[in-house]
Formats: sequence, C-alpha cells, structure tokens
Amino acid sequence: MASARPVGTAAARAGSRGLAARLAAIGLTNDWDFVLHLPLRYEDETAVVPIEDLREGVEAQVEGVVTAADVVYRGRRQLRITLQDGRGATLVLRFLHFYPSQQKQFGVGRRIRAFGAARGGLAGKEMVHPRVRVVSEGEPLPTTLTPVYPSTAGVPQAWLRKRIARALETVDRRDPLHGVLPEAFPSLASALQRLHQPPPDAEARALAERTDPAWQRLKFDELVAQQIALRRARAARERHQAPVLHADGLAVRLLASLPFRLTRAQQRVWREVERDLGREIPMQRLVQGDVGSGKTVIAALAAARAIESGWQAALMAPTELLAEQHFGRIAHWLAPLGVRTVWLAGRLGAAAKRAAQREAASGSAQLVIGTHALIQEAVDFDRLGLAIVDEQHRFGVAQRLALRGSDRATVPHIMMLSATPIPRTLAMSYLADLDVSVIDQLPPGRRPVVTKMVATRRRDEVLARIRKDVAAGRQAYWVCPLVEESAAVEAAAATATHERIVALLPELRIGLLHGQLPSDEKTAVMQRFARREVDVLVATTVIEVGVDVPNATLMVVEHAERFGLAQLHQLRGRVGRGAQQSYCVLLYEEPLSDTARERLKVIYETTDGFEVARRDLMMRGPGEFLGSRQSGVPLLRLADLERDAALVERARRAAEVLLEQDAAAAEEHVRRWYAGRSDFLAA
Ligand code: ADP
Ligand code: MG
Repeated sequence: MASARPVGTAAARAGSRGLAARLAAIGLTNDWDFVLHLPLRYEDETAVVPIEDLREGVEAQVEGVVTAADVVYRGRRQLRITLQDGRGATLVLRFLHFYPSQQKQFGVGRRIRAFGAARGGLAGKEMVHPRVRVVSEGEPLPTTLTPVYPSTAGVPQAWLRKRIARALETVDRRDPLHGVLPEAFPSLASALQRLHQPPPDAEARALAERTDPAWQRLKFDELVAQQIALRRARAARERHQAPVLHADGLAVRLLASLPFRLTRAQQRVWREVERDLGREIPMQRLVQGDVGSGKTVIAALAAARAIESGWQAALMAPTELLAEQHFGRIAHWLAPLGVRTVWLAGRLGAAAKRAAQREAASGSAQLVIGTHALIQEAVDFDRLGLAIVDEQHRFGVAQRLALRGSDRATVPHIMMLSATPIPRTLAMSYLADLDVSVIDQLPPGRRPVVTKMVATRRRDEVLARIRKDVAAGRQAYWVCPLVEESAAVEAAAATATHERIVALLPELRIGLLHGQLPSDEKTAVMQRFARREVDVLVATTVIEVGVDVPNATLMVVEHAERFGLAQLHQLRGRVGRGAQQSYCVLLYEEPLSDTARERLKVIYETTDGFEVARRDLMMRGPGEFLGSRQSGVPLLRLADLERDAALVERARRAAEVLLEQDAAAAEEHVRRWYAGRSDFLAA
C-alpha cells in the first residue's frame, strides 16, 4: 500500500546511501537483521468498516468514492478529501503535508481505501493523515494482518514491509536450534511467517501481547543467542592473562590485626576470592552481602594480597562520602602494615590531585581509593592488579578500567561488592558472565533492627524517644522526605526539614547532610557525627549507602511511603551496626494507600535483604537491578526476564547443549542475532 505521506515518498527518493545509514542506525544491515526485526503491533486491513460504524479513536479501514478534493486554508494549507461510502455516510480526510499531485491522485470519482483513527470534527467524522491508496472496485482485501514495525524517520512502513518480506524469502531458513528446541515449539520458518504475515484468524490479542507460540519461539531464540554470547565473552575473558596474586603474608597480618574474627560466611567468600586471585585468569567476581555483612574487609584482604604480590589495587565507590569512609577505615587497617594508600577526591586541590595521580602512575601508591568517575577518568596506574567496585551495579566501570590496560600483557582482576541481592533470572542472563559469592551471615552480636510504623500525627512520641536516646549517649538519623524533582529542590527541602527539627529539638545538636553540600563540608559533618559532636543527623538518602556510625541506634524516616523498598532497607542498614539494640521508625502520612501499606509492611516484617529484594522484585519488576549495567552484554529486545523467566532457564540449557553438540550451529545462531552489532560480541 503506497503511503500518501510525502515524507515517505521523499525518503524513497533520498538515495540508497542515506537510507542505508538510517537503517544501520536502527540495527538493520543484512537480511537476518530484517527478518528478526519484528512488528510492534498489527493493523487489521482485512476488513472494511462502514463509515457510520467508525468509533472515535479506534483504528479501522474504510472504503469509498471521493466526492471532493480541495486545498483549503485552516490556519495553514491542507488537502481535504471527502469520501462517501456505499451507504451515503461521509468522512473527511485531512492532510497537512501533501504534494500537489496528490490532489489529482485522490481526485473526485476515485475509489480509495483509508486506514486510520476517526474523530468527530466540525463537519462530521474525519481522519487526519490516514494511510490511503487508490483501489479499483471489488479489489480483494489483504488476507493477513498488516504488521507495524519499529522504524525511524525516513524509513516508511511500506518500504520496510517489502524489504522484510523479501528478506524472509531469501534468507537461509535452516534452523540452527532445531536440535535443542523444547517440545511443541513451532519451527523457525513458521514462527517468522506468522509474526510477519499473520493469518487473519490469528488471535490478535496473543499477537499483540506476545504470548502467541510464535513469539515464544523468537524470544527463546533471542535468549539462546544471549546465552551463547555470554559464554563466548566469558571464554574471551579467560584468554586474557591476569597477574597471579599469590603472596598471603600481608593478608594474614591484616587478619591478625583486626579487632574481630571473620564470620564463617566471610571466611568462605575470602577463600573463593583468594583462589581466583591466585590464578592467571582474570577474576570477575561479585561479592554480595546484606548491609552490614562485612564486605569491606574482604576488599581490604584482596587489596593486601595484590599489594604484597607487587601490584597496585584500586577501590572505587559511588559517592565521595563513601570513598572517604573507606579510605578512613582501610588506610587505618593497612597503614600500620606499611601500605601506602592514596586518596583521590574531586575536591583535592589541583596540586594534591596531580601528586596523587603521579603516585598512581609511578606505582608508589599501592592502593588508590576514590570515586568511580575519578579513578576511571583521571588515573593511570603503573601496575594495576586488582580493581574493586563498591556498592553499585556499574560493572561496566571496572571492565573499562581493566581493559584500558589490556594492550599490556595482563589485565587486572575485578571484584564487585553489592548489597543488592540479584534475582535468579537476572543472575542467569545479564550477569551470567560473573561469578558470585554470597556473604549470607551477619557478624555476631548484631541484633536485628526493630522496625516500627508510626503515623506522622504521633511525631511527638518519636521526638520524645530521640531525646531519651540522646540522653543515654546515643545518636539518631532523621531522613528527609524523598524529593525526586532535582538535587537542588531536594537540598532546599532538607534544609527546611533541618530548620524544623532544630526548632522541635532546640536542646540537641542537629547536623545537616545533603548531596548539594560542598564535599569537604559533607565530610566535616560526617566526622562531627562520628565524633559524637552531633546528636541528630538530618540527612537525605546520601546516607543510604555504606555510612557506618555504630553509635547511631535510631533512624527516623519521614514520609517513608515515598521510598522504594530497597532504599528503605539500605537506609535501615545505617543503624544496627553496634552491639546496642537499634530502631527504625517509618513515619507515614495518613491515609496510606493499600499498596503503600503493603510495601511498608514488607520492611516492617523482614530484616532479611534477600527477602526484601524478592518481594520488591515481585512488586516492581527487574529494571531496578539492571539500572546502569553497561557492559557489552546484549540487551533483550523481545524477552522479558520476569514474564519469560521459565524461558530463560530453558534457553540456558539449550545454549549449553548446542555449544557442546554443534558449535557451528551455535555460531550461526549468534551471527544471525548480533551480526550488525559486533560490539556485543567483543569480550
Ligand atoms: P557492608 O557489607 O555493609 O559493606 P561493612 O564492611 O561496612 O559492611 O561492615 C559493617 C561493620 O561490621 C563494620 O564496622 C565492620 O568493621 C564490621 N565487621 C565486619 N566484619 C566483622 C566481623 N566478622 N565481626 C565483627 N564486625 C565485623
Ligand atoms: Mg559497604
């Protein structure tokens, strides 16, 4: 069907080079790219609807004879065509963009079919920019639903349809997966046929919602391709060489100097890390453990091992506050053992920063601690043997840092620390190139934080509680309501909350911490709080991650109903770090919606981060966990990790079997899915 839209006509004339570039931009270069370019939705042009039955806003096809075709002015020039069907009802078609030739093409007496959504106009029903074409009387209707493809400016649907239909005929239809296909799955050829040219009796809903067996088949294929790509990335990584970090004297001395013994879980994870570090295959390990489970010490032990083996280590944190705290703690542990740790902060003066960079480049800095951004952008290492990334799913960060040195003979080991438990489907797909260690035990003597839900109208009781705790020598956090507009608005709101709390608790020392403060001021405030010169710290979620002041035993979260579950769990992890019983008070505004109550109940009922994450995932979906992952792992276009969880598992098994039994078929399959996107295939 020819498009009446000049934009399409223009594109068709734009010459093949311009078109090729546009297509490449949406990942379409070879025949398989086109064949695997699947419809977003379908339009039903297999039927003609009488004009009088058109419903407002619903897409449908009509057929009629043109009774008028005029160029009119309604603020701007437009082509206005009046159409009359066999029953005498009329419909106006309006085109704001048109060629003069189209006035003739759709002239009086012509029979045309128009597809679009009708609306009630001043002069009766009308369609704006419907798809139209001239037909002869009795011309047969299409017998298949019309696919609508994802496209881009200058690539008309009609062109894409033809190109895809042609590709469907030319590609090699042999099915690389036929040997590993779950029972009852349709063949690749029939699934593709059905999705690109569905028969009119196909259930439109199953197609639209992608539950049709043909969709299942293509999602499965996509997941298998992802699994194979992941395994290949892993194999490529294993071909790189990493330094063998074998010296354990320093780590042993560090362990002996600590005021505590490792928990059993920490010991097990440390053994796993040690084993990795002692091999010449680059480690890529995620150390996962709930807040307070003691991940930092594992990082310090790994750094000690790298350093004693004659290599440098880098520790990256998401915020400067956290990086600083790591520096404080780890340097305190390692300095007495003769380790030179360098701190690299954005706020260091230019000269100090240059000095730190020089130390990293010369190798005299054995451990460099700073934020991701800073270390990645501004530091060259002499001999980086280990890169540690704390508290963020920014795996890409460490990988890029690691690969920057990969023209050298060796690449560093990578270790990631995270308090966010990873749902199984995610671990099996996007994160399948990682090894995972779990610290599933808290250090002894920790008492679970007692959580309470309190309506804001009972705030006075909470204030009384704070006074009592402070009188007993303890400290509290007051977390400001979440403001998502902007950092500046959030800072202003935090300042206002601070003023309110100062007025409510005039006899106490109240500090304020938010993201917009200059970073040396943030540090100063944190230090005063750690030295007990501040009783109550009013803070935004900047304290969400990693902050460690064991004497703080009470946390009040204002407007708790506005926070996410994972966030509340992280916040609550800031208390309960010492031997004292700690409390977390979730202040909520009444009335509480059912969903909000349900969510707060999760935090109230469980202190287990894994359980919180599981229930969070159930309520919200997986996007959260992927967030900023930026490695070369191919993103899924068709499959949905939550809805298609069962397929993930099957695809994983199929990929394993295929790689084992028919490497050539596996190769062909991945090539089809990712040929135009070689970046995904790189390690
Ligand atoms: P997270 O896993 O949240 O990063 P941290 O590494 O900050 O936890 O550890 C939390 C607190 O527990 C720190 O004060 C740390 O020194 C302490 N800690 C770590 N391991 C142990 C242990 N085995 N026994 C007692 N305290 C520990
Ligand atoms: Mg931590």
